[in-house]
Amino acid sequence: MNRRAKRRMRRKRRMKRRLRFIGFVLLAMLIIFIWNNKLFVEGNKDTSEAGETFKVVIDPGHGGSDVGATGISGLYEKDFTLSLSKKIKKILEKEEQIEVYMTREDDTFISTEDLYRPKFANELNADLYISIHGNTFSDSDVSGTESFYFHDESKYFADLIHRHVVNATGFNDRGVKAKDFFVVRYVDMPAVLLEIGYLTNPQEEQKMLDDGFQYSIATSIVDGIKEYLEIE
Ligand SMILES: [Zn+2]
Repeated sequence: MNRRAKRRMRRKRRMKRRLRFIGFVLLAMLIIFIWNNKLFVEGNKDTSEAGETFKVVIDPGHGGSDVGATGISGLYEKDFTLSLSKKIKKILEKEEQIEVYMTREDDTFISTEDLYRPKFANELNADLYISIHGNTFSDSDVSGTESFYFHDESKYFADLIHRHVVNATGFNDRGVKAKDFFVVRYVDMPAVLLEIGYLTNPQEEQKMLDDGFQYSIATSIVDGIKEYLEIE
């Protein structure tokens, strides 16, 4: 081998070593970059868990020209549901970890055709959905608290809220049932529809119209929500 050929080989080897070194440095930089990013992401997750907030939607049944049931005294279900829902909202607003939303704040008619109520909750990406109603029946002797869910994923939540509400009303426990109500069907989060009591039953209606009684029901619903979300 002549001297020129030897020099060329040495230059090639040096070049190879240099390229290997650069490759090594780039790889090390990449590992450090990924590692730092991972820590950053985990760090962020930790802080968000500490101050976790939950969105809760309260849905006062009916409204406007949709009066709902007519109570034995002539009162409309839509007014009872709004009155109770406002109390639930007021109590929930004191909870730092809960953001509360209502599908209606006043006597507004909401069409069922465009699924506004469930869409409202889905677009918010809400964590829980509670629809408030008062029951009705042709026989004024019929009474009690009854709760409904649709998706299996909602059963535990429905059972839990129902237990709290029955304790608060002291009414006959009519149980928790699966039923195809559109509000609990078309929402993407655990949802319950509460029939607090019968507005067509004179004793129940009288109690349900009482502000103090409504506050105790509202408190029981909030207690159920907090128990479900594991908020102290
Ligand atoms: Zn109703």
